[in-house]
Order: sequence, then structure tokens, then C-alpha cells
Amino acid sequence: MIIDGNAIAKKIKDKAKNCCSECYRKPNVVAFMLGENPSSESYLRMIEKTCNSVGFGYTLVRLSTDISEAELLNRIVEKNQDEEVDGILVQMPLPKHISEEKVIMTIAPEKDIDGFHPMNAGRLFKGEKATRPCTPLAVITMFKELDIDLEGKYIVVIGRSNIVGKPLAVMLMENNATVTICHSKTVDLEEHTRKADIIIVAVGIPQFLKREMVSEKAIVIDVGMNEVDGKLVGDVDFEAMKDYVQMITPVPGGVGPVTNAVLLLNVIEHFKGVKR
Ligand code: NAP
Repeated sequence: MIIDGNAIAKKIKDKAKNCCSECYRKPNVVAFMLGENPSSESYLRMIEKTCNSVGFGYTLVRLSTDISEAELLNRIVEKNQDEEVDGILVQMPLPKHISEEKVIMTIAPEKDIDGFHPMNAGRLFKGEKATRPCTPLAVITMFKELDIDLEGKYIVVIGRSNIVGKPLAVMLMENNATVTICHSKTVDLEEHTRKADIIIVAVGIPQFLKREMVSEKAIVIDVGMNEVDGKLVGDVDFEAMKDYVQMITPVPGGVGPVTNAVLLLNVIEHFKGVKR
């Protein structure tokens, strides 16, 4: 079975639309973008489209790459203090003279819809209520929508980044899965992947996971987004695997659209926090 990420994303968007249709105001997102960058532009256009499709407000603040770090931090603080703003995004990468760490720390945790603030990361690690980073949240949401019970499953996550692999492992454990994280220094990766009920790949290398590395009973989730000859491809050898494994996500049309949609769920959480 090929998992339809677009269909899952549509369900989430419908839920988001209904959730705030009768609220006293619409939820609002503000995105900061410094300079020009084609992939950031297209990502933010997608976020704008997603917000507009469910009636959420979206404002893009375009700033010059010459802006000082202090000035950018001030602009973020202004939005922290604006009661009409529920979510703040700052598009990375930033110019070298601006510390990404300081920017992330400056966004108020209750407006951090990316879930990157150390307060949110720490709360997630402790099993407390926290804003979860969108890609791991998308993967967990996909399992829920597909009625896949994670309890007792052996899950291998390939990739240990702070935005995907590490938080995802914590969230899978919350759902009582047994989790192994693999990375570039893992010895005999196939030894792990062949035994796995579920394999989640977030490496950033096209066709990294091959058919001979997995069991035919496996569920394969491809987080990868790589551009090859102008086309978007994942980290999995999809063609060789799609008729072999139990379930698989395609790229495009898998984790990507769900990641964009779950951002709305994070906005709603913050909006409801404001409204009480
Ligand atoms: P990242 O920070 O570059 O991390 C990549 C991870 O892959 C690292 O942990 C690295 O191990 C591991 N790795 C690299 N080569 C490996 C190898 N040969 N064997 C095993 N592990 C290896 O990347 P990321 O930000 O997590 O993103 C990963 C992919 O997901 C990218 O394609 C990115 O575009 C995509 N992505 C998609 C979404 C979405 O919404 N679908 C969102 C975010 C990212 P070390 O730690 O040992 O270096």
C-alpha cells in the first residue's frame, strides 16, 4: 500500500478549518524571511497557501540580509508581545552574522510553532506538554490516521538531527515503540533495518534505503527531500520497494504535505492557549 500523504493532510486541514470557524478572531502566523532564497520562498508560499486554505492569517515580514542581529531580535520580540500573533516562523538559514541559536531562543516558547525552542524540546524530552517539531509530529499523525498501533513495534529511525530523528525517537517511545536510532557511524545498518517493523529514513541521500535492507513486512516512511535533476525525490528506492513492503510513503505526496498541515495544529494549540 502506498500511503497517501495528501489525503491525510486534507483531513488535518479540514479539522483546522472547523476548529476555529467560530472563534472570536482567526489564528495568525507571522513569518520572517531575510533576503531571497528560492527554496525558502517556495516553502513559505506553501505555508501561506496552507494558512489561507483554512482561513488563518499569514503575514510575511521581508527583511534585508544586512539587518543587524539586535534589530532582528527586536522585531521578533515585537511579535512575541503582539496578542494577535499566535505563531512565529523565522526562515533558516540566516546570514552568518546572525546566530540561529539566539533567534530560536528569542521566539517565545508559546509562539514557537516549529517546536525548536529548547523549552519545547526539553518539555518533549521530559514527557510534558510541548509544541512538537512538525516533521516528527507529521509522522506520528500519519500512524494515527492509518490506525497503526506503535506499541511493541521495533522501529528503526535513520538520522539523528535535532529537528527530525531525535524528537521523533522520543515521540515513538511515548507511543510505546522500541526504538533504535541509526546514523552515519552505525555499524552494519542492515542488521537493524532488516529486523524492523517500521523504518523511518531522514538522511538526505537519494535512494539510500534499498529493498534488500528491509523485510517485506516492513512499513517504510521516507522523510527525505532531495532535488535530483530538478525533481523532488526521497531517501528510499521507492520503485524497487513499492510492491514489496507492506506500506510505504512516496516522495512527493508522503510526509511533506502532512508536515505542512500539522503546522496548523501547532498554531491552533497556541491560539487556544491565548484564548483559554
Ligand atoms: P541532517 O541534519 O543532515 O541529518 C542527517 C542525518 O542522516 C544525520 O543524523 C546523519 O548522521 C545521517 N546520515 C548521513 N549519512 C548517513 C549514512 N550513510 N548512514 C546512516 N545515517 C546517515 O538532515 P535532516 O534535517 O534531519 O533532514 C534529513 C532529510 O529529511 C533531508 O532530506 C531533509 O530535506 C528532509 N526533511 C524533510 C522534511 C519533510 O517535511 N518531509 C522536513 C525536514 C527534513 P550523523 O549524525 O552521524 O551525521
